[in-house]
Amino acid sequence: MTKYIFVTGGVTSSLGKGIIAASLAKLLQARGYKVTIQKFDPYINVDPGTLNPYEHGECFVTEDGAETDLDLGHYERFLNIPTSQANNVTTGMIYQTVINNERRGDYLGKTVQVIPHVTNEIKRRAQLLGQSSEDYDIVITELGGTVGDIESLPYLESLRQLRWELGTDNCLVIHLTLIPYLRAAKELKTKPTQHSVKELQTNGIQPDILVCRTEYALDMNIRRKLALFCNVEVSSVIEAIDADTIYDVPMLMLKEGLDSTVINKLRLADMREPNLKKWETFLHKLKNPKREIRVGLIGKYNELQDAYKSIYESFIHGGAVNECKVIVDPVHSESLETSEEEIEKLLSQYDGILVAPGFGERGVEGKLKSIKYVRENNIPFFGICLGMQCAVVEYAQNVLGLEKAASTEVNSKTPNPVIDLLPDQLSITQKGGTMRLGSYDCKIEKGSLAYAAYKSELIKERHRHRYEYNNDFRTQLEEAGMKTTGVNPATGLVEIVELEDHPFFLGVQFHPELKSTVEKPHPIFVAFIKACMVKKYKSKGSSVDVAAN
Ligand code: GLN
Repeated sequence: MTKYIFVTGGVTSSLGKGIIAASLAKLLQARGYKVTIQKFDPYINVDPGTLNPYEHGECFVTEDGAETDLDLGHYERFLNIPTSQANNVTTGMIYQTVINNERRGDYLGKTVQVIPHVTNEIKRRAQLLGQSSEDYDIVITELGGTVGDIESLPYLESLRQLRWELGTDNCLVIHLTLIPYLRAAKELKTKPTQHSVKELQTNGIQPDILVCRTEYALDMNIRRKLALFCNVEVSSVIEAIDADTIYDVPMLMLKEGLDSTVINKLRLADMREPNLKKWETFLHKLKNPKREIRVGLIGKYNELQDAYKSIYESFIHGGAVNECKVIVDPVHSESLETSEEEIEKLLSQYDGILVAPGFGERGVEGKLKSIKYVRENNIPFFGICLGMQCAVVEYAQNVLGLEKAASTEVNSKTPNPVIDLLPDQLSITQKGGTMRLGSYDCKIEKGSLAYAAYKSELIKERHRHRYEYNNDFRTQLEEAGMKTTGVNPATGLVEIVELEDHPFFLGVQFHPELKSTVEKPHPIFVAFIKACMVKKYKSKGSSVDVAAN
């Protein structure tokens, strides 16, 4: 039977529930269990696809095209397994289903209520993955929000019921909380945790394990105090001390025995000691870089690192294989809407430039100007989605001489719509879930940069966009030197563009950053980092053979 672990959060948001859940899942997976994680988000949006990145960080897209919470990105990066629509549930989805059921007449004659109709739907969704043909040993569910939030109540009630129905051997609650340090008193404080556990208990839930975020180590006294007042065993008080990198957290949890505590409580058969060899190799390389490069990440949501979460993480994975520290500096695209001299001043310090995905007109001008600069100055360039579209527009404007060339997203009246909507996108008026989403095939041209990276002619990558490379301009662009090196074999849509006479200039319509994991860094990120290392170290006359990695 599948065992269920729920992770709730108390005291404040942003304690890193997703990382704790992913770290526990990693440890259990490393012991040989088949594990998956899901996230329940208490907001009323059906999915985060329509949320501004400032509100919610990056929107993570799964293989099956679900627009999901960025924590699913952590799950995939840690576990190296794909997630799907079923791994992210929102209050919006729950209510949509309940209301559709009501309209269909499923509850005919009954008053439809939060209890039992909404809670039953939450319980059904909580068990979907566990009941699937995947045969998971363990399903971890992260409950978004903080205990005490009004919108979390139906989830807590569902959790209470599930625990009662499944029994304590099969269902476990981990509560993640904060132990603040008061500098004036020179003391770690347990009271907020006591209150937060009381709040859980008011909802009929006794947590089994406390994971305590803290800046300082928890001594035995404080562990005993937490155990006594929160009604848990001392061995179930787990310290989660601040870490240098999120990738340390599984090792810290292992040291604290989070996985073995879980195994004991759920009466799981102890399979073996966790095999974390690949993880440890990655950590070792990450912490002992032999080189260092600096990349400019040009985007418009730079105030918030979470907006480009997967890109930052992909650089960490790709940097580690190259034994190279990648410093990623956010560069605001609007700050690049300036003179060529200023652009040179801002960008010449970088060993490579990545132009980020994005939506709308704001900041596009700065992206175009920076692409012109890196193209003409042989600086490695990597464009993702909007970044690739901007590379095509820039080339059409400055090399083909089509001055007014544009994407119709930016200028709907352009005479040269090199990036345009496809006819089937024209009639769409709804915004939610209507982009080209999820995994599509791409056939790669042999001899290209992309082929050198992937070493394969057929790949699959994930998409999230409305606009496309306009094939009417393909011959012109190719003849002028912008090669199409990746195409969707079924639709003929262009996926990858490259420049021949440039050390590394590559634009992709898809989102490679969504598929980079600790154990499988993305080949294009790896290749781009290598190109940046070549630029930096070869130009300094270093004899280091960076290509040997
Ligand atoms: N705004 C562009 C489109 O919709 C690019 C989207 C993106 O970068 N994800 O096609």
